[in-house]
Amino acid sequence: MSSLCFIGGSAILPDRIIDDAVVVCRDDKIIYVGKSQQRIPARAEKIDAKGGWICPGFVDIHVHGGGGSDFMDGTTDAVRTSCRAHASHGTTTLFPTTSTGSPLQIQAMLDACAAAQAEWTADAGSAIGGVHLYGPYFAKEKVGCHNEAGCRVPQPEEFRNYFKSGIIKVATCAAELPGAAGFYRYARRKGCLVTCGHSNSSWAEMDNAFKNGMRHVDHFWCAMSTVPSIRKRLGVPMQGSMLEYVLGNREMSTEVIADGMHLSAELLKFAWQLKTASRLCLVTDCNRALDMPPGRYRFGPEKDGSWFTSDGKVGWANPESLASSVSGMDHMVRTMHRSAGIPLFEAIRMASLTPAERLGMSDQLGSLQRGKQADVLVLSRRLQVKQVCLRGTLFAG
Ligand SMILES: [Zn+2]
Ligand SMILES: [Zn+2]
Repeated sequence: MSSLCFIGGSAILPDRIIDDAVVVCRDDKIIYVGKSQQRIPARAEKIDAKGGWICPGFVDIHVHGGGGSDFMDGTTDAVRTSCRAHASHGTTTLFPTTSTGSPLQIQAMLDACAAAQAEWTADAGSAIGGVHLYGPYFAKEKVGCHNEAGCRVPQPEEFRNYFKSGIIKVATCAAELPGAAGFYRYARRKGCLVTCGHSNSSWAEMDNAFKNGMRHVDHFWCAMSTVPSIRKRLGVPMQGSMLEYVLGNREMSTEVIADGMHLSAELLKFAWQLKTASRLCLVTDCNRALDMPPGRYRFGPEKDGSWFTSDGKVGWANPESLASSVSGMDHMVRTMHRSAGIPLFEAIRMASLTPAERLGMSDQLGSLQRGKQADVLVLSRRLQVKQVCLRGTLFAG
């Protein structure tokens, strides 16, 4: 039995902050969160937050890679490299996200993630909560930085194979594709958070998708429909798009890439104001260039993914369009709090409890609460990651 005790800082709960907090973990669970010095076990290893923040580990439901690897490289080594890179930025649970690719490439990614998940120890970095089946079921006109050749419509003969391992927990499909309704119903039956992304769907198509279990939209404002794009596709009268549907339906959640490069501070704040922290997730949507020097990299599989350029701040598919982020979740939290002016406890909630709730995993993770997994971070006052505790074990980095 081992005990870890976090002291000397302010603990961030989903709705408030406790100053001079004491957070006690025994083995892989949190057993106490409060202010009582009496609760510090005599033989616990003490972690002094030195006046900083004690907060829950981050949960990232949309992430492609990091540290030079993309999950779609399809090897356990690539999975571990990405997980270690993200752990050092405070992510304790992530959902490796597929890009477009061949059935063989997607199956290799699923197998590599399942193997890494089964063998996980804290030195492997972020734990794998499940896989986000993201590509290949995108609308061709909204394919963004993904390789268009690997994009297609959902066929049960194909996607049923992917769900066999049970590792898929988030499932994306563009709502206007033929077969989308069947995909959504199947993914919902498998217990997934069902999402619509890389789509040019109308309000009516979104409403139909909602009836089939769709509840979330990927990276708000990026690769999604707008009233003008729907007018171009379906003519007049002008119709609502994904944007109006998400803002108008309280049950719908969405996510923002809060790297300060994809969306301006006022858009980040607007999304938070309209959806509230319980329906808005922070995601990194990070590619393999995290913690790598500026240069040319592949988005998706190493072998035939599309090329992009990282300038060290963001990925560029070409001089006009972005190709996902190159930043970890700590950076997203700093942007939400400092640039967009969102209260710190709400920014942290959007990076931890909200995604855990949307995934149906908030009984185990997502906040500093007795009984939950001991996924705990120490951040400096300036929100730099100082310590990462993965299920009760300190991550050495
Ligand atoms: Zn995307
Ligand atoms: Zn993405």
